[in-house]
Amino acid sequence: MNERSPQHLYRKLPSVDRVLSDPAAATLVDRYGATLTTAAIRALLDEAREYIKNRNTLPEWLPLIKLLARADARLDAQNQISLRPVFNLTGVVLHTNLGRARLADAAIDAATRVMREAVTLEYSLGAQSRGHRDAAVSELLRVLTGGEAACVVNNNAAAVLLMFAAIADDKEAIASRGELIEIGGSFRIPDVMRQAGCRLVEVGTTNRTHLEDYRNAINENTALMVKVHTSNYKIQGFTASVSEAELAALGRETGVPVAADLGSGTLIEFSDYGLTHETTPQELLRAGVDLVSFSGDKLLGGPQAGIVVGRAALIERLQKHPLKRALRCDKTTLAALEATLRLYLRPDNLAETLPTLRYLTRRVSDICADVERLLTVCRAYYGRTYIVESETCLSQIGSGSLPLDTLPSRALTFAARDGSGRTLECLSERWHVLPKPIIGRIQDAKLWLDLRALDDGDELERALIAAAES
Ligand SMILES: *Cc1c(COP(=O)(O)O)cnc(C)c1O
Repeated sequence: MNERSPQHLYRKLPSVDRVLSDPAAATLVDRYGATLTTAAIRALLDEAREYIKNRNTLPEWLPLIKLLARADARLDAQNQISLRPVFNLTGVVLHTNLGRARLADAAIDAATRVMREAVTLEYSLGAQSRGHRDAAVSELLRVLTGGEAACVVNNNAAAVLLMFAAIADDKEAIASRGELIEIGGSFRIPDVMRQAGCRLVEVGTTNRTHLEDYRNAINENTALMVKVHTSNYKIQGFTASVSEAELAALGRETGVPVAADLGSGTLIEFSDYGLTHETTPQELLRAGVDLVSFSGDKLLGGPQAGIVVGRAALIERLQKHPLKRALRCDKTTLAALEATLRLYLRPDNLAETLPTLRYLTRRVSDICADVERLLTVCRAYYGRTYIVESETCLSQIGSGSLPLDTLPSRALTFAARDGSGRTLECLSERWHVLPKPIIGRIQDAKLWLDLRALDDGDELERALIAAAES
């Protein structure tokens, strides 16, 4: 028989059982379990057969010891939790695809504590009645926003759905044509209303809506008037819209409640921190709006949650609605949210304690210092293939906040010396396979690392060096 015939090569492959009986395989079984280990070995033997078929030779990794090392590497990769921590150097501080707000230490501590223990989630110590799961957060929100009560659900999309369902089910809700927004992920106000079982009555035009438009649309079936914060776009030019205060006055006059979807909900005056003013829930409540909803993980800087604050009687209807049961938050979210809100009781050092605010208010000179320090290292390790520079750039707040609202920042930029797009992509790919991937953005034929949201320059330096040496 021909020594080089594939049949002869196939016969050199060990059986799955033979591989499994090796002492080194026992270590893998211990670490990853028998099912996964067997599957990995079977897959590698299949690959070896494929290799022989195509090349008429044994793969170099066939000796048992190498095969098991290969299985180990694969199993280890599979064993990683798929939500991987990354360096968010995209320049978008609240990046939805990268998990939005990074929580404050106080929130992380509160969340881990309640994850480990049984807690008084709906249990009152002392009082007779069964406690309410939103009670603690509700009390804090009352103090912070001036709203009479609050309701907390899984995200702001859920909060908006619940407001429509609890207040305007089988009734009409009036909204301006200029505010029928779509935000990412197929969240469209008209669709949400339909899901909630309420009939949308559109008033005004795309660019102009007047108070009379709302007034003329009110009839005995009207249950709600809605204002939606157009956070991700701007209508400019010949425009008119009705303020929350005017709409609230009309609501009081006609007995129709007014709800506002605020989107990002900061509880502080942004201009005090050198940022562009953002509408706050307390402002809208003072203007007379009955219900205001906003996100927990946008500007608030907390866990993913949807918060509704406002009149006690209306909040009661939200709390009693069957959908609330389906949308309610778990103890972990509530603990993290409560701890985040407590930080707002001491706003003087919020820019240190709340990561989101810390990134948004970082001085450009600070960011520059990080860039300058890393510039030398990057030129040493990447300078042969890439032109590395320190350049000014603009960070975005993100998460639906105006893309036009930008913050001056500083970035490390990498341009391929050979001018090839492929060379640039190679760099980004190399950073993506790091244990903690570095995520930048490609723009104008350069790879940009905006260091605004960087916590630990030393950690990034080590990662950049590791990637260059790999
Ligand atoms: C972001 C946003 C939402 C959705 O909030 P999530 O917390 O992402 O569910 C709804 N409305 C507006 C105006 C928003 O900006």
